[in-house]
Amino acid sequence: MDPLLFARALVVELAAEHGRGHSGANASSSVVASVAATARAVVASATGAVQAGGPAAKGGGGGAGSHGVSSVSAWNAAIARDFQYAFGLAVVVFLLFVTPLIAGWAANGRWKSGWMLRSSAAEKDAPVAVNEKGEKGTEKVRDAVVMDVFDRPALLQVVPTSALTAYLRTLYNRILLRPFPIFHLTLGQIALCIVYGAVVVFCLFFECLDHLSNFNRTAAVGVGQLPALFLFASKNSALSALGQGYEKMNYLHRVAGRLVVLCGLLHAVFYLVKHPFDLSEPMQQSGTACVIACGLLLIPSVSYVRNTFYQFFLLSHIAGWITFLVGLYYHAPDFATPYLIFCFVVYGLDVVLRVAKTRFGKASIVALPANTLMIQSHTISSGFRPGQHVWLRTWKAGGWWRGWETHPFTIASAPEGASPLQGSHRLTLLVKAAGDYTTALKKAAEVSLGDSSAKVIGCAFEGPYGGPMLTDFADAQSVLLVAGGSGITFCAPILEELVYLATVGKTSVRSVTLVWTMREAELIESYQAFLGGLVEVARERTALEVKISLHVTRAPLNVPPDTRVNATLPSPVPHSTLSLARPSISYVLDDIASDVVSMTTRMNLACGGGIVVGSCGPRHLIEEVRRAVGQVPVAKAVAVGGIVVCGETFGW
Ligand SMILES: Cc1cc2nc3c(=O)[nH]c(=O)nc-3n(C[C@H](O)[C@H](O)[C@H](O)COP(=O)(O)OP(=O)(O)OC[C@H]3O[C@@H](n4cnc5c(N)ncnc54)[C@H](O)[C@@H]3O)c2cc1C
Repeated sequence: MDPLLFARALVVELAAEHGRGHSGANASSSVVASVAATARAVVASATGAVQAGGPAAKGGGGGAGSHGVSSVSAWNAAIARDFQYAFGLAVVVFLLFVTPLIAGWAANGRWKSGWMLRSSAAEKDAPVAVNEKGEKGTEKVRDAVVMDVFDRPALLQVVPTSALTAYLRTLYNRILLRPFPIFHLTLGQIALCIVYGAVVVFCLFFECLDHLSNFNRTAAVGVGQLPALFLFASKNSALSALGQGYEKMNYLHRVAGRLVVLCGLLHAVFYLVKHPFDLSEPMQQSGTACVIACGLLLIPSVSYVRNTFYQFFLLSHIAGWITFLVGLYYHAPDFATPYLIFCFVVYGLDVVLRVAKTRFGKASIVALPANTLMIQSHTISSGFRPGQHVWLRTWKAGGWWRGWETHPFTIASAPEGASPLQGSHRLTLLVKAAGDYTTALKKAAEVSLGDSSAKVIGCAFEGPYGGPMLTDFADAQSVLLVAGGSGITFCAPILEELVYLATVGKTSVRSVTLVWTMREAELIESYQAFLGGLVEVARERTALEVKISLHVTRAPLNVPPDTRVNATLPSPVPHSTLSLARPSISYVLDDIASDVVSMTTRMNLACGGGIVVGSCGPRHLIEEVRRAVGQVPVAKAVAVGGIVVCGETFGW
């Protein structure tokens, strides 16, 4: 039997089965029947017994045009269902790819934290003290009292990466991680969007070229995408098992959302070409509600509107999807109900988990230099991992009407039990006054002259979410952390935890380099004691090498103008450098890679243990990091064991 002929005939036969509307439990038996029927038909055709095969010849009706209305509906429903299979299959394939990472993550036990914020009995519900002048708060984000650890434990052995993994990482970095010139996405993300779009287009046109007659096809394909759309948007969705937080999958939510809206609008247009617009018809009333909802969802989600009027975008989005789903229920109850149930279950679970992950309490709020402020919980000190973020809600600071708003902020402190520094380990946020809400917080933080303690506010922290997920910094051979401005909130706790793990000999990392670029040098003041403390611990009590390089892009006023270009200044953080030039990430990374290669040769290993690059800051910085990683020569990138990149931007 000719396999190609068999495959072709099988596709036609399966398509015919869908056309006959098999579903649920019948689906598998119909597939078996199709395979058997196809095999019989192909064998028969090979022996000349059958002149013309396929559903049309058997009167099954393969094309939508030849179907009756119910048959066409069955086809559309089958296509919408097939979209779920395709989506499920894609998730399974991705899961297979990340299985080794999940296994490693499960084995090292670090998966246990990072789910629920926890309070510590040791933490007292007391505000932090402000400085003697009472002007700018404590002027430091963290205490820097060094723990009493006097031995210098050996670090874990470097585990060489397999050559295959190193090659795959390098290939990924050079091709898929490359920044795409528009949309602020990588080539890999664009490729994923194209694949998603291609599946949607295939579903739209498979056995359906006359969309004016079969105007329900566009609607079916739109509705079929709703489960994926909701899964991509949920903070607590099962898709997090793929190792990507909801914030990193937001671009897929946007793509799916736009395609759902496009399908909905096309459905309305195709329908109206052949039918008069008549709002007295209940079907058209619900359809019109859906079209209005599409407008509410689409227009405010345009990047400019979303970034400039975020709360307006959020309100219209909520109003839009509620209207859309209710309208859809009345428009096509039979077809849409299973999809609506799925969406409500996903959303309902998300809400329940969000409530379960919310901790109400008090926090101190302190104004810091460089237009920033610190918010420190009075009780929460564990249950999160370095690099994760929480959503903050306040109801007095910033005005009572802001009580409904929540804003995401990265946790700027390492949890209790993951820091080499003594003192409080309360959950701390470092906030840059960027717009209305954060500026209002900054005003609320200002204390009067003579006040000895910081302002205290009531607030709720929801989280933790996101972070490095499956990327484990502690298992690499070398780590590079690149922070831009307040992006230090992501990098500092990772550095803090690595130094702690080195004090107890639980990391294989040999060197960590922190490159922190900021506009105003005053920002360093908030972290000066903390970074100094970490460097001191690392130098005196661990075998870990910590290098800190600070870069200020706006020269301090006390530096004479003629000496400002690329000047090097004395750094307030011991054993670090401070310069007035932007860093060259390529150069720094190449240097680190060379060090790892020579260390690997000295250790007599076939391959290095890998470099992990963590970065957080403005988009251009993240893209520069990605470019720099892609530019490391292949041989060198493979020799170090591959480079893993883990980036965070403060936006979507
Ligand atoms: C995962 C993540 C982590 C972050 N971590 C920090 C941090 O550690 N420190 C820090 O200073 N900033 C952080 N941000 C940015 C911070 O959330 C925004 O600066 C803040 O919400 C701005 O609110 P605003 O009203 O003052 O400014 P606006 O002028 O209203 O907004 C400024 C920007 O923030 C976005 N934004 C506004 N409100 C929200 C919201 N409720 N949810 C999501 N985005 C919003 C807007 O789209 C716009 O791009 C983080 C953002 C994200 C997504």
